[in-house]
Amino acid sequence: MTLVLRRLRLSLLAQNRGPMKRLRLGSLGSAAKQEGVHLAEGLGLDAAVHAVPKLHLHCHLEGTLRAESFLELAERDAIAVPQRERVYRFEDFPEFLRTFVAVCKALRLPEDYARLAREFVADARAQNVVYGELFVSPSTWSHFHPELDVREALVAISRELNADGESNFSLIVDVTRNLGPESAMRTVELALATRDLGVIGIGLGGDEGRFPAELFADVFAYARGAGLHTVAHAGEAAGAESVRSAVEMLGAERIGHGVRALEDPGVVELLASKRITLEVCPTSNFRTGAASRDLPHPLFRFHEAGVPVAIDADDPALFETSIEEEYLYVARLGGLKLLRRFVRFAIEASFASKERKQALKALLREE
Ligand SMILES: [Zn+2]
Repeated sequence: MTLVLRRLRLSLLAQNRGPMKRLRLGSLGSAAKQEGVHLAEGLGLDAAVHAVPKLHLHCHLEGTLRAESFLELAERDAIAVPQRERVYRFEDFPEFLRTFVAVCKALRLPEDYARLAREFVADARAQNVVYGELFVSPSTWSHFHPELDVREALVAISRELNADGESNFSLIVDVTRNLGPESAMRTVELALATRDLGVIGIGLGGDEGRFPAELFADVFAYARGAGLHTVAHAGEAAGAESVRSAVEMLGAERIGHGVRALEDPGVVELLASKRITLEVCPTSNFRTGAASRDLPHPLFRFHEAGVPVAIDADDPALFETSIEEEYLYVARLGGLKLLRRFVRFAIEASFASKERKQALKALLREE
């Protein structure tokens, strides 16, 4: 889920879904047993999952802000923190919304974005993340901080992401559906003007229900023609047709979430036949209600239907999860072998060079 203006959509979800609760992986155990999938492979599962090389294909950099960093930045600028004791532990959507706005306000200066990226890299290293294509949402930054020099903030992020000289992380600039096609075109121009900072593509986020993909067909065609990769959030807040539109009208190379594609077998078939990878974020889906927390995540059904699946974390800090936690969830329900297959799908669906993909596959084999 994109951070940008998702308040609107979350408000709708709040009316339909009721309060959020923390995901409890254990609560899925009985359902998993019933389905015959094997659970933990002994006491060493945590260590084995830790060792698996990991990729981020769907991670919003802003959504990785550590709770303690958020508190520090908020204190500096005297921003009210809705719930100091529990920071990111939301009991309901109004709490989430208040904190989300406070996080956006707290990221004010280029050095704040440098800190965000620096801490992201440290957290990624600690989880054996070896490659990432990260969403950033400059239109949200400008919304809350019109005075911010966006390029300067991107320079700060790029410098921190690549401080080790290995270029393991690139950026995808998220277009906001709510702001319409003209704003989207400006975002594409920004993406084109910041390719020197590691920007490789555009995404599409925001209110999926009210701002369908077709509004952005021309913008996406222009971006693709100019050499940018294109991905889109779809099938999260809207149904299967939204996924079909993202594929057929936008030419999206990957779909963020896509879980509601299951509502139409024809769309599942479309994803399978075109080998469109879904960037699946279980905890995010459970907490927003895009997937039922009482059942195993539908990612397993997509896999059975021949749709490539990559495992992702969306806004890990805000959802109190991590990429390692998401991998662990999959390994607990589907086993390590299946998890490793999903990592291979992620490598293949990434926008890395052929050589980089080979190197990543070699890492997976060695581990
Ligand atoms: Zn997202």
